[in-house]
Amino acid sequence: MVNKVKAQDLQKKRVYVRKKVCKFCEDPSLQIDYKDPKLLKQFITERGKIMPRRMTGTCAFHQRKLRNAIKVARIIALLPFTTLSR
Ligand SMILES: [Zn+2]
Repeated sequence: MVNKVKAQDLQKKRVYVRKKVCKFCEDPSLQIDYKDPKLLKQFITERGKIMPRRMTGTCAFHQRKLRNAIKVARIIALLPFTTLSR
């Protein structure tokens, strides 16, 4: 019973995550820029937290650059530290 429920959960998540390839390695024209909140927002949750690598598939190198960019963006108020709604 318990195992069955877990398997269903995994299947649901897989549809959401899709293929795990680092976006930035795949498309070299894509620049990690703290002045681009539209891009950075794809890598934070709706609560404003940075998504873990296992969810986005971003490689270690780009994840680090991304994390720094998000931190800068937060400081200059392009992205929220947390979302107040909810
Ligand atoms: Zn990469």
